[in-house]
Amino acid sequence: MTHDLVVIGAGPAGLTAAVTAARFGLRVAVLDAGPRAGGQYHRHRAGRPPAWPPLARLHTVEHLAEHRVWAVERAAEHFVVHAVAGERDTTPVTVRGRRLLLATGAYDRQLPFPGWDIPGVFTAGGAQALLKGNGVAPGRTAIVAGTGPFLLPVAIGLADAGVRVRAVLEASRPSPRAAALAPHSPARVAEAARYAAALARRRIPYRTGRAVVAAHGDRAGLTSVTVARLDADWRPVLGTSTELACDTLAVGYGFTPQLELAGQLGCANTADGFVAVDARQATDRPDLYAAGESTGVGGAQLAEVEGELAGYAIADRTPPRALLRRRARLTRFAAGLRALYPVRPGWLSWSDARTVVCRCEEVPRGRIEDAVRLGADDPRSIKLLTRAGMGWCQGRMCAEATACVLAEALGRPVAAGAPTRPIALPVRLGDLAQGAP
Ligand SMILES: Cc1cc2nc3c(=O)[nH]c(=O)nc-3n(C[C@H](O)[C@H](O)[C@H](O)COP(=O)(O)OP(=O)(O)OC[C@H]3O[C@@H](n4cnc5c(N)ncnc54)[C@H](O)[C@@H]3O)c2cc1C
Repeated sequence: MTHDLVVIGAGPAGLTAAVTAARFGLRVAVLDAGPRAGGQYHRHRAGRPPAWPPLARLHTVEHLAEHRVWAVERAAEHFVVHAVAGERDTTPVTVRGRRLLLATGAYDRQLPFPGWDIPGVFTAGGAQALLKGNGVAPGRTAIVAGTGPFLLPVAIGLADAGVRVRAVLEASRPSPRAAALAPHSPARVAEAARYAAALARRRIPYRTGRAVVAAHGDRAGLTSVTVARLDADWRPVLGTSTELACDTLAVGYGFTPQLELAGQLGCANTADGFVAVDARQATDRPDLYAAGESTGVGGAQLAEVEGELAGYAIADRTPPRALLRRRARLTRFAAGLRALYPVRPGWLSWSDARTVVCRCEEVPRGRIEDAVRLGADDPRSIKLLTRAGMGWCQGRMCAEATACVLAEALGRPVAAGAPTRPIALPVRLGDLAQGAP
């Protein structure tokens, strides 16, 4: 059977698009790698009521959970989506759709620093996923560090799970300009105020202009971190380092879009590396749409609005003007937040030649710099000479950091480059042989 619409990603964007399109009579399939619908924001534990119930009530939406999509190809009149299904990826599945929506979201951006690979150091999203999806507290005493408002729910979530949160360290120093953002999303501002009150109630200190610049411990786990005050470029200010004991560090420097499938289909990207879409959430490829954080990081509400607009467009309906206005407001708010919490280049001064950049292949920064001395001047040559980005994650974790180390060594900007490989996720050779595009 060929569906009217196939959605990849059952987060806020994909689910809203699916429900909107189904309300206009389209037959929709939603594939997601996760066991339950909801994506990152509505992640919930097995046995708990779904955080996103409307899907269950719609008979024209087929939710294919635990389906990991590794390739999408375009046939004459439709898209062919290749996935592996089941907890252990044992079943190859092929789904066809006349139109396709990519709602694959984003994942934590990683900035390597000495000790970031010690057990007990989590990404902020990873710590949040453990709490929300498994009800597991990652440790007993934690520091939450990084930049952006996402640090706040992570700190509160840890504290609610019984973890002693010693501090939230915000590397940026948000300016009074922040107040100008309030009218664009009063709900988000109220949410931030609730988190701030919750931090105060729990006596968790919130310090700006500070970061964890090194983590200490061994294979048995994290024992402490070095915290330093940062200058405007995020270089540590001399004489301000202190060591804090903890067994857990949740560190978050924003999100990176999930672009593998968009890259396979040849979608154009924006200058800042997201999938480019028009006002209807259509990409530059026919019948191919994108919504949510793969088109720009802006939070769950914006992802939902974009998903709804994509649903209207895919069903060839005109969306209500109020919805368009809401997207414009939330987009302005998201752009303002990004400007308030930028990642500054001085983070590179936290690491040295021994600091691991690519964890999968254990490539230290020094080896990347050696490759530059040998003449490598683009990410591909670095990969071939050092193996950075050749491991299990295929550069999802390290490509951006590798490009930054390369840029600093060359003294000019370097783009990490959108992934364009024909296989988005690791799959077995047998699945490839059966379903190869
Ligand atoms: C780890 C993490 C935790 C977060 N927690 C919070 C939070 O607590 N509060 C908050 O306000 N914001 C949180 N955010 C931000 C939040 O993700 C977004 O605002 C919102 O969920 C974006 O919605 P989305 O639909 O664009 O993407 P997502 O919610 O990320 O959904 C994308 C979905 O696509 C699926 N997917 C991706 N690639 C494939 C593939 N190849 N095959 C099959 N499925 C695929 C994923 O499994 C995922 O379910 C978090 C982000 C991350 C990365």
